[in-house]
Amino acid sequence: MCARIFPSQTEQDEFLRNLKLSACPHCKRVGTLNRHGVLRGYDEEHLKHWAVRARRVFCSNRNQAAGCGRTFSVWTADKVQRLFLSAEQLGAFLKAAAAAGNKRQAFGKLQSSMSGSAPYRIWKRFQNAQTSIRAALSTICPPPKLDGAQPGDSPTASTLSHLDKAFDGHELNPIAAFQATLQTFFI
Ligand SMILES: [Zn+2]
Repeated sequence: MCARIFPSQTEQDEFLRNLKLSACPHCKRVGTLNRHGVLRGYDEEHLKHWAVRARRVFCSNRNQAAGCGRTFSVWTADKVQRLFLSAEQLGAFLKAAAAAGNKRQAFGKLQSSMSGSAPYRIWKRFQNAQTSIRAALSTICPPPKLDGAQPGDSPTASTLSHLDKAFDGHELNPIAAFQATLQTFFI
């Protein structure tokens, strides 16, 4: 799915207000973009609701418009696609799980209303995404020097330190910063 990811709601709103001035990410035409509904899903703050998670934009090819007919979605960086945790909660969970080695316990700290297999599914997604996460981080900075690392440090712990190093001092939490900077979801 093609996505534009904005650092904040304000910037997302600004983009949506000025859609006609923006180029379509697919065909690069300007003036053909229209709002096209929302993407809904569950998230931690709205578990009882089917909350709005992202907006959809359509590059119009109707009524002789010159667009390509494709869509893309518009997100804020604090959300992760297909995940009910915020970027910040995801970061806290991964850090705790990597440090303690106990995913269920790490997940319990979030006081999430989700339970069961959720921590394992999320951890698995992170594992599967690691190669692309590292490749993306390497475009920003090299991995942290090994001098602070213990011989037993796991690849997941190294990926998380690389993430912290890449976005040290950023105004957003590291996963949100990753998503807004690299325009791709962390997992
Ligand atoms: Zn287009």
